[in-house]
Amino acid sequence: MTLDPVDLVARGLVAAERLPELRRVAEKFAVAVTDDMAALIDPADPQDPIAAQFVPNAAELETTGDDQADPIGDERWSPLPGLVHRYPDRVLLKPSHVCPVYCRFCFRREMVGPGKDSALSDSAYASALDYIRANKDIWEVILTGGDPLMLSPRRLSQVMNDLAAIDHVRIIRIHTRVPVADPSRISDDMVQALKVDRATVWVALHANHARELTERARAAVARLVDAGIPMVSQSVLLRGVNDSVGALEALMRAFVECRIKPYYLHHGDLAPGTAHLRTTLAQGQALMGALRGRVSGLCQPQYVLDIPGGAGKSPVGPNYLRAENSFVGERDADQETRYRVTDYCGEVHLYPPRP
Ligand code: SF4
Repeated sequence: MTLDPVDLVARGLVAAERLPELRRVAEKFAVAVTDDMAALIDPADPQDPIAAQFVPNAAELETTGDDQADPIGDERWSPLPGLVHRYPDRVLLKPSHVCPVYCRFCFRREMVGPGKDSALSDSAYASALDYIRANKDIWEVILTGGDPLMLSPRRLSQVMNDLAAIDHVRIIRIHTRVPVADPSRISDDMVQALKVDRATVWVALHANHARELTERARAAVARLVDAGIPMVSQSVLLRGVNDSVGALEALMRAFVECRIKPYYLHHGDLAPGTAHLRTTLAQGQALMGALRGRVSGLCQPQYVLDIPGGAGKSPVGPNYLRAENSFVGERDADQETRYRVTDYCGEVHLYPPRP
C-alpha cells in the first residue's frame, strides 16, 4: 500500500519540517515502507542506510542529462505487454506492478506503483502465455515486476502452474523483496504456491543491507529453503547504504548464513532522480577487490552493469588476469602468452605460457 508522506511523519520516521519536500517527491514517485522496514530505521541518524532506501529525498527531484525513464531498455525488448524477451533463452514476465516497498533507487520507478496497471489483464496474461508456448527456446521465465509475491497465493499458484505446464519452460525464477520487506507474507500457502512439479523454481531475494536480514526475514527465507527452493541474492550498490567493504561483507555473510548464494551486485541504473545514490564504477571495482580479500568465494556476488538502452548485463568487476603481450587479444586463443595474475592480497604473479 502506498503512503502519504504525512504518514512517515506520523510514524516518526522523518521530521515534520521535511513534509513539503517529501510531498513534492511523492507526487512523482511512489512511496511505501512496510512496518518491518520502518522498525529498522533510526530517525535520529541522518545517514541511516534503511531510511536512505525508502524515505523520499529532495535529491530525487534533480535529474541529469543521462537519466532514462527506462534505463535497462525493457520497452525495446517487449514483444507484448508484461513480457521482456532480451536474451534468447529467457523472458521476464511481469504479472504485477505493485511492490511492498518503493525503493528510492528503483530502475523501474516509472513503471511500478500507483497510477500504473496493478496487474496484467486476463487477456494480456493469456497472450503472454501464448508467446512463451510458441517460443520453444524459452528455458527460463523470470517473474518480476513489481513484486510477484504481492500476488495472492491462489493467483501465484495459477501462474506457476500455467508456466510449469509448458514443456520447454524448465526454470521459473522469482525476483522478490517480500521475504525481507514483509516476511509475514511467506505463509504456508505462499510456499505451497511456489512449489510446482514440472519446473525447477528459484527465488532471488533483493536486499541491500545486512540489517534487512532480521530474525523474521531469516525465518521467512528458511521456510522457502526448507521447502526445497534454492535461493540467490541480488543487491544494488548504493551510496550511503552499502558502499563500504564492511557493509558489503556483512550483507554477503548474512545471505550465505541464510542459505542464499550471493548472485548479483548491480551497479546503480540511470533511473531518474537516483544519481545521488550511485557510486562510480571505479568505486564498485575497488569494493569488489577488497571484498575478495575478506570473504570466501561463496560470499562473492558478480558485480554487473545493465548497459543503458537494453544491451543486457555485463560483468564489470576488477580484472585479475592481464596478458603480458598487449596484442594477445588479436591472436588465436591457442597461441599462449605470459600472464600477470593478481592474488586476493593484490600481489601480482607471473603465469607461464603453455610450452
Ligand atoms: S522492490 Fe524492486 S521493483 Fe519494487 S520498487 Fe524496489 S527495486 Fe523497484
